[in-house]
Amino acid sequence: MRYVGPIYRPPSEADSLLTQATLGCPHNKCTFCMTYKKGPRFAVRSLAEIEEDLARAAQELGPTVKSLFLPAGNSLAMPTGDLAEICQEAHRLFPALERITTYANVQSILAKGVAGLSRLREAGLSRLHVGLESGHDPILLKVKKGVTSEQQARAGRFALEAGLELCLYVLLGLAGPEDSAAHAEATTSVVNRINRAGPLTVRLRTLLPKINTLLLHQINKGRFSLCTPHEVLAETKVLVQGLNGPLEMFSDHYTNHLNLAGRLPAARERLLAEIEAASRLSTSAFRQDFVGTQ
Ligand code: SF4
Repeated sequence: MRYVGPIYRPPSEADSLLTQATLGCPHNKCTFCMTYKKGPRFAVRSLAEIEEDLARAAQELGPTVKSLFLPAGNSLAMPTGDLAEICQEAHRLFPALERITTYANVQSILAKGVAGLSRLREAGLSRLHVGLESGHDPILLKVKKGVTSEQQARAGRFALEAGLELCLYVLLGLAGPEDSAAHAEATTSVVNRINRAGPLTVRLRTLLPKINTLLLHQINKGRFSLCTPHEVLAETKVLVQGLNGPLEMFSDHYTNHLNLAGRLPAARERLLAEIEAASRLSTSAFRQDFVGTQ
């Protein structure tokens, strides 16, 4: 496999064929993210190279490939026609292919519009993985996410209206203890606004400082504090109580203090009971804070 830069993919794509479509992230400014801070710079690979990689993979794996993920940080940013051609070619080469997915940011979703997204859906793109992080505008500004909650809500609805599946990633603890409640409430609100356009998936992650990030520098200078496990659980509770659904929620990441999985609204009471039980544990029962290196 030809690949440039660090390899990242959602846990749900663990069994997917990875074929790199772009390099890096066109935004690359989020204060908490180390992924592409050391490069590579954002670039779109040539169509010929991508199709060559798909053809090689097809020779080895053709009938066995059921899902394809197109790294890197935001492959939706590539030209619509090229991405549509890749999707069509992949479906031609892999007869058992059930889904094609990619990371996408809010700016790129808005730039494509419902028409561009529908074209991609028709070409065989199935799902967008979107880092929402927070729906609280002051936090989005502080962490340099480069979008507003209004744009997030519009982009999410565009994706669902185009018939794409949508997986939203929420970053618990991102606001620190001071704005923890506002972060949880505003995030719940923006997910609910998107959710009115159709079912979706929410995956919870918990803030862990990473090397080479502005956020780690802010922590070291005493300008930002991490939430305690109990504060993070309180944010989780706000989300589980307030999210209307229909949606699937997963807290399934090494950064999290509690694993959760369930459909809302049906599983609400069970999930709340699990959060309640975890909240009764002492701090020593949870993972320690550490600086992440990957
Ligand atoms: S969090 Fe996503 S959008 Fe932000 S810099 Fe990292 S890869 Fe880019």
